[in-house]
Amino acid sequence: MTENVRTETRTRGSNPSIVRTSDGVVVIDTPQLPTQAVAMRKLAESTGPIRYVMNTEHHCDHIFGNYYFQDVAPVVHHQEIADNFMLLEPTLDPYDFVAESVRTQDAPGLALFPAREAYFADLKRADITFAQDVSLQVGGHTFELLHTPGHTPGQTAVYVPEERVVFTGDTIFSGCQTWLMSSDVGEWLDSLNKIAALDVDYVVPGHGPVTDLSYIRVQRACLIQWVSAVANAVAGGWSREETIARVNPGADLPVDVGLESLRDHISTLNAASLWDKLTSTAVTGI
Ligand SMILES: [Zn+2]
Repeated sequence: MTENVRTETRTRGSNPSIVRTSDGVVVIDTPQLPTQAVAMRKLAESTGPIRYVMNTEHHCDHIFGNYYFQDVAPVVHHQEIADNFMLLEPTLDPYDFVAESVRTQDAPGLALFPAREAYFADLKRADITFAQDVSLQVGGHTFELLHTPGHTPGQTAVYVPEERVVFTGDTIFSGCQTWLMSSDVGEWLDSLNKIAALDVDYVVPGHGPVTDLSYIRVQRACLIQWVSAVANAVAGGWSREETIARVNPGADLPVDVGLESLRDHISTLNAASLWDKLTSTAVTGI
């Protein structure tokens, strides 16, 4: 992407990236599929020693591959990422979710894929956690870890001013469907404003192609459309089932690479989670 930044946007999972500095390499999110995780580690190590592995959120498509890096560098992420580690949502087991993707989309990776017991027994959690914005210096590069909650509570953007780039994680889904089911949309809109204030040329999203700050307007509209569509359904007295069946403002957008089979699942959970929040008197965030 730039001379020092590589990102992988075209395979199943998030957009794992590496940044080369004068004193080694920083990995930001790790590949979900084992073949790609091992390949990325080799690529990183061919560039220099890996200094940190950073995660932008706790969903398994950003963090499952930590397993393949954990013996080489400290894992750094927000305390709430550590607290919610790999939790997807109640109906999806993270290990089974990844195992299915390996079986169907990374057959050579099966030989590198640990059994459930081994995975969780060997998996190392964070070496370093933080609870507010922090800045790490590696060689001549600055890595500002900005807490940007909304998509998930521990959501983090990594801003590297020397490369004029921000890695937003799933605060931005570029040109593909947005997952809202574990979200607080009010916080998410605030976090988009925080990212909009950065001085960058490149926005590396959690999913979809690299974009720029102009895409923030599109992401903001997507969130507002989802909330207003479900709010209108609730105001019209629609049931949860009716809302799930009829409301999908993201229907025209593709799903991210490798997730075609989950198209209905995404819109169902988006509509259902917003309906639950908008009909509850107990929840304050939406
Ligand atoms: Zn996510």
